[in-house]
Amino acid sequence: MVKNKVIDTAIIGGGVGGLYSAWRLATTKSKAYKASDVHLFEMSDRIGGRLFSVHMPGMPHAITEFGGMRVMSRQKIVLGVIGQMGLQMEKFPMGEDQNLVYIRGRRFSVGDYGNAAKVPFDLPPWEQGLSPATLTVQAMDKIVPGIAELKSDKARREACKKLTIDGIPLREYGFWSLLLDQLSNEGYNFALLGGGYNTLLTNWNCADAIPWYLADFSKDPREIEYTTPTDGMEAIPRRLCDAFKGVGGVVNMEHELISFDKSSTNGFLEITVRDHKAGKDKTVLAKRLVLALPQWAINKLAQHAPDRPSPNAFFRSKAVVSCLQSVTARTLYKFALAYESPWWHMLNLKSGRSVTDLPLRQIYYFGTEGDRPGANKSNRNSYIDCSYTDGVSAEYWEGLRRTGPDFNGRSNPFVPRNGKSYIPGHQVSTAMVERASQQLAEVHGIPNLPKPYAAAFKDWADEPYGGGWHTWDIGVDSARVIKTVRRPERNYPVYICGEAYSASQGWVEGALQTAELMLEEHFGLGRPRWLSRKYDLGP
Ligand SMILES: Cc1cc2nc3c(=O)[nH]c(=O)nc-3n(C[C@H](O)[C@H](O)[C@H](O)COP(=O)(O)OP(=O)(O)OC[C@H]3O[C@@H](n4cnc5c(N)ncnc54)[C@H](O)[C@@H]3O)c2cc1C
Repeated sequence: MVKNKVIDTAIIGGGVGGLYSAWRLATTKSKAYKASDVHLFEMSDRIGGRLFSVHMPGMPHAITEFGGMRVMSRQKIVLGVIGQMGLQMEKFPMGEDQNLVYIRGRRFSVGDYGNAAKVPFDLPPWEQGLSPATLTVQAMDKIVPGIAELKSDKARREACKKLTIDGIPLREYGFWSLLLDQLSNEGYNFALLGGGYNTLLTNWNCADAIPWYLADFSKDPREIEYTTPTDGMEAIPRRLCDAFKGVGGVVNMEHELISFDKSSTNGFLEITVRDHKAGKDKTVLAKRLVLALPQWAINKLAQHAPDRPSPNAFFRSKAVVSCLQSVTARTLYKFALAYESPWWHMLNLKSGRSVTDLPLRQIYYFGTEGDRPGANKSNRNSYIDCSYTDGVSAEYWEGLRRTGPDFNGRSNPFVPRNGKSYIPGHQVSTAMVERASQQLAEVHGIPNLPKPYAAAFKDWADEPYGGGWHTWDIGVDSARVIKTVRRPERNYPVYICGEAYSASQGWVEGALQTAELMLEEHFGLGRPRWLSRKYDLGP
């Protein structure tokens, strides 16, 4: 790191939002930015943030995603970046009609949603015969008449922005509260439990929840194609990082932003970063500071912890406080189990997810090591995300995380004798593996399920994330905050981007939209050639 020199831009956060900002600034044709004057600081020893691709033991070619796992065909910035980075993509299959639903002790297949006799909910006739997503979309269409027919995110956002109910703007209502006006309580519980997530249909800003839901769970799933990079989602920020460094950009790993303020002597930003490897703090002078961070990490900067200086005027500003407090971080939990063979194939389950009201909630079936390019074909090791969950079910697993001994795995012909059957830092308790195995047996109706040889998990509520994604709070005018947060305090050249304060929360696209808008508006960058001017970046 260059000391005693003023750098142009310090970017904090080595997630996809931070890396995109760094790469765009360093590669712009504008003479205003020199790549070597753009410095990125990442507190951990890994690039990628919430994009985190790992290999389960004994599976060197198959990728397990702890974080983001798929891209939608309509997400043009992430696809543009993927194209620029030359990443190869493959289909992310979303499963078939034979995938299972196991709710209220009854097992049926996704294709049976149309058969009211199989669905264990006491639904009124007008709610029968529909999937949970279709029922939810119908209810939303009653809340905002005609919204399901609108094709663009922008048109849906506008429709929600304009709507008032009893003279009160839609944003002042909770999503659950209005859904329950349109659905029977059984219908709501069917949509909630069958939808697989615990928090999507709860009370967050209704004017944001509806367009958000429609962007993914459209009426016809064939309208959306999902893909994923062959090298894993983490390859996106990693390639951006290589490209950034390749043109002279500077990356400082294991450097945590501790505080910043305006220097009283020269007016530049005086930034204190903790170098975790050297075990000491350093001061960097910068003209601008980009915080490409989730809400929890920014809040930590605002706190007055004993080892941190008191909050600066930036964090005392009303505009900054109201922006930062406008979203809620939501838990997301991934729990993976690896087996010697894909036992789920005997039930004709090959991909996509099964859904249950047991704490597992969503079970995603993934591939077999030997089927990956370059892998040993005789290696049939395969893995599932036995639980991809949120809210109360994530709390259930947290209740067992530190209970009793760790699960050290079982021997496997493809894990070296002295190798580990867990991923260091992501070890699971034996109690978790036992409960997950019991629940998997119940969901699939196979009492003697094979035992896993390896397990791993990631709880995104852990520091420094505080949650896997964010939702807009009731009452917040998200369009106003999205615009303001890009530079929330005019006296400070401090800019915020990332998924948390975006119109596509929970998606890489959200992080990239906010970064692109920030760069165009406040750093004077033109739209890149590979991204259409017509593409909607959000407010
Ligand atoms: C389980 C899960 C599933 C998901 N599924 C999908 C999906 O299928 N498709 C999709 O598009 N998106 C998905 N997402 C969302 C996507 O992963 C995120 O939107 C995106 O990665 C967020 O990027 P970001 O740059 O905003 O923040 P982050 O990735 O959170 O990056 C922030 C970075 O800042 C660092 N940091 C924090 N504090 C400091 C500090 N003080 N100093 C220095 N560094 C700091 C962190 O270590 C981190 O590297 C999923 C997310 C999760 C958790």
